[in-house]
Amino acid sequence: MTDFLPVDQVSREIAQGIQAVNEHESLALTTALGRIVAFDVLSPIDVPGHPNSAMDGYAFHSDALATGANLTVIGTALAGQPFDEATHTIATGQCIRIMTGAVLPAGVNTVAPQEHCIVDGTTVTLQPQRFPLSAGQNTRKRGEDLEQGQAAVHAGRALTASDIGLLASLGLEQVQVKRRVRVAIFSTGDELVAPGKPLGPGQIYDSNRFTLTALLTRLQVEVIDLGLVRDQPELLEQALQTAMQQHRVDAIITSGGVSVGEADFTRTVLAKLGQVNFWQIAMRPGRPLAFGHLNAPGRERPLLFFGLPGNPVAVMMTFYFFARAALLQLQGAQHTVVPQFSAKSAQAMRKKPGRTEFQRAVLSRNGAGEYQVALTGQQGSGVLSSMSRANCLVVLHHEQTDVNAGDAVSVVPFEGLL
Ligand code: AMP
Ligand code: MG
Repeated sequence: MTDFLPVDQVSREIAQGIQAVNEHESLALTTALGRIVAFDVLSPIDVPGHPNSAMDGYAFHSDALATGANLTVIGTALAGQPFDEATHTIATGQCIRIMTGAVLPAGVNTVAPQEHCIVDGTTVTLQPQRFPLSAGQNTRKRGEDLEQGQAAVHAGRALTASDIGLLASLGLEQVQVKRRVRVAIFSTGDELVAPGKPLGPGQIYDSNRFTLTALLTRLQVEVIDLGLVRDQPELLEQALQTAMQQHRVDAIITSGGVSVGEADFTRTVLAKLGQVNFWQIAMRPGRPLAFGHLNAPGRERPLLFFGLPGNPVAVMMTFYFFARAALLQLQGAQHTVVPQFSAKSAQAMRKKPGRTEFQRAVLSRNGAGEYQVALTGQQGSGVLSSMSRANCLVVLHHEQTDVNAGDAVSVVPFEGLL
C-alpha cells in the first residue's frame, strides 16, 4: 500500500537543500521587473532631500500661532523654484505662498492649507478655531521616507513596480539582480503531437509544454524547450543528457511518465543520473510527482529535476504548489508563499479528509459586497477548459470535510501567479 504524502510535507522536502544561484548582473530599472534583488540596496541620499511642504498653502513659523492670526505674504516657493533665502529672511508674522513639494526655507516650519486661509491682497488670515493647526503640520522632514545609508530594497526581493519607482527616486539607474535561472522542459508520451500538425488515431495535442513555458516565463525563467520525447528509456536519457550537458540548465521539468503505470522505466533512467524520489501525494489533482537532484559531470552543483504528472491541470497544480516555490528559491527569492485568503463558497462541496483538493473557481463580489467563489464546472484533472475559465482556486485543506453553501473557504487568486 502506497503512503500518500501530505502537500505540506512534500513542500518542506523540496525546499530542503535548494541553494540560490550566486551569479548576478546589473540591469537597467526598466528591465528589472520581477527579478530578484542580489544585495540590499542602500539609499545614497536622504529622501526627501530637503524639508518640504505637503500641501498647497502658506508657510510660516509656528510662533505666529500663539501671537496672532494674520500673516503677511512676502514671497513664493514652488516645487523646483525655491524661495530666495539668500536675500530675504522670513520673520515671525510673515509667510510665503508655498506649493506641495516646494522646499521649506529657514525660518518657517508649518504650512496652513490654502483652503483654510482667508486671503486679502498680501494678508493671510488663519482660522485656528475652525481649522486648528499645530507646529510642523503639513510639512515633510528631510529623510523621513528614507535616510542615507538605510536599506531601500532588501536582497531576495522580487522587484515590484513600487520598488522600481523607489530605486528611481533614489537616483539609481541600475539594480544588481540574480541571474536568470535556466530550465529545460519536455513532454513525454507516445500519444502526443505538437500543435500545428494533424492528429493521427488516438493521438492528442501536447499542451503541457505551452502551459509550462507560460508559467516559467512569468517567473522570469529562461526556458529551453526540448520538445516531445517518446516513451523509450534511451530517448528519455538522451533528452536529459542534452539538457544537462549541452544547455547547462539549472533545472529540468518534464511532464508525463510518472504515474504508477509508467513510472518504472522513468525511475530506472533517473536512478542512473541522480537521486530522484517518486511520490504519491495526498492531493487532487496532481497525485504523482517525481522530484530530486541530477548530477551532471563537470558541474559543481546538481540540477533540480521535476517530473510532473501528465494531466494538464495536474501539471499546473504541481507547478504552482511545488515547482514555483523551488524555482523562486533557486533564483534567490526570500518569499515564496502562495497568497491565500478567505471567501464565501456559493455552493456545497464534497470533501474527504486526508488530502488537499484544489477546485477551479470564479471569484466575484455578490450583491452584499462580499467576495464569493463559484466552481467552474467539470473538475477532472484533464479538463483544461474549466481551468481556463477560472480566476482562482479553492483550496480544501488536508483535514477539511464537506463544505456547505455560505461557508468560508481558502482561495488562491490567479492574478500574479498565472
Ligand atoms: P501520464 O502521466 O503520462 O500517464 O499522462 C496522464 C494523462 O495526461 C494521459 O491521459 C496523457 O495523455 C495526458 N498527457 C500527458 N502528457 C500530456 C501533454 N503534454 N499534453 C496533454 N496531455 C498530456
Ligand atoms: Mg504518458
